Amino acid sequence: MFSRSSTSPVSVVTGGAGFLGSHLTDRLLTEGHRVVGLDNFITGNSENIGHLAGNPNYRFVRQDVSNFIFLPDDIDFVFHLASPASPIDYLEHPIPTMKVGALGTHNALGLAKAKGATFFLASTSESYGDPLVHPQREDYWGNVNPIGPRGVYDEAKRFAEALTMAYHRYHGVDTKIIRIFNTYGPRMRLRDGRVVPAFIGQALTGEPLTVFGDGSQTRSFCYVSDLIDGMFKLVMSDFHEPVNIGNPREMTIKEFGEHIIRITGTHSELEYRPLPVDDPKVRQPDIGRARSILGWEPKVDFEEGIRHTIEYFRSRVGPAKQ
Ligand code: NAD
Ligand code: UDP
Repeated sequence: MFSRSSTSPVSVVTGGAGFLGSHLTDRLLTEGHRVVGLDNFITGNSENIGHLAGNPNYRFVRQDVSNFIFLPDDIDFVFHLASPASPIDYLEHPIPTMKVGALGTHNALGLAKAKGATFFLASTSESYGDPLVHPQREDYWGNVNPIGPRGVYDEAKRFAEALTMAYHRYHGVDTKIIRIFNTYGPRMRLRDGRVVPAFIGQALTGEPLTVFGDGSQTRSFCYVSDLIDGMFKLVMSDFHEPVNIGNPREMTIKEFGEHIIRITGTHSELEYRPLPVDDPKVRQPDIGRARSILGWEPKVDFEEGIRHTIEYFRSRVGPAKQ
């Protein structure tokens, strides 16, 4: 059990064995926090936190946060990241996705309230749905199909944002909301279906790169270290409304595939497949708010971030590691 100390805050990270949760945990430990990680491994991977075994400032609890969370510790920060995040994952687990966005967020907020902790919600650019405003600013309310297949994720996150603001306004909990735009880097699952691991995995194994639709839809990719830096700056701020964190460099998915082919030197080619239902046509963050309030902007350029990520996936390719 961790007890309060003025020099070493205690942070809880739900979804702590996931891609972003494990990077956030590393950053918090570097900043002198003690960390309790919670995860049920629905999409996470114990290898992401394997290096923390034996660290006296880290404890892991295997638990589904859609069930009541009991922790004996004094807690200063609750970071709520638990949720399937890739379209393939949330289409495979629609009800757990809605439960963790709704019940899990309620439990994590309840924990923060009971402990007098700051609460941090990992929301998403999917709150904007298939946006009619471009680039997306935080004051845009979005264009989401509530009953489409992606609705389970989008609406759960929108509910989570509403609940977070209600706890802030009604219970006075110190809350922060980040809207994360497509983030990539080491520790993503090779086969999680998101376009970055999908294309890199396909390029490294000589398979065709599966472009959905005609590849004209756009995304803007942020390297993980930049995202974690934005998260940390936001949690230390006194700003309570949502803040976009992402890299504004926008490209079409076809261009992204061509970059992966060029950088990996693969002989793979692009292969076109049907576009999934409600796939957003454009996505680019307006980061004016993050710039002015947090003094944050991304530092890692696309070429550098993607090369690091390709190196990571090179070490993972092969049937035994997938
Ligand atoms: P991830 O799948 O790697 O991590 C999510 C983690 O949450 C996994 O370890 C999973 O096992 C855990 N989890 C899910 N449901 C749980 C539950 N009920 N109880 C306990 N643990 C549970 O995905 P990620 O990319 O690291 O995403 C982390 C968070 O950031 C998610 O909330 C996601 O919606 C948000 N986000 C990520 C991105 C991105 O580009 N990576 C973009 C927007 C939002
Ligand atoms: N995509 C693709 N091929 C793939 C996986 C994804 O063309 O193998 C496309 C997908 O249709 C979307 C974009 O790439 O337009 C980004 O998809 P991702 O799953 O990474 O996340 P999203 O931004 O849609 O949540």
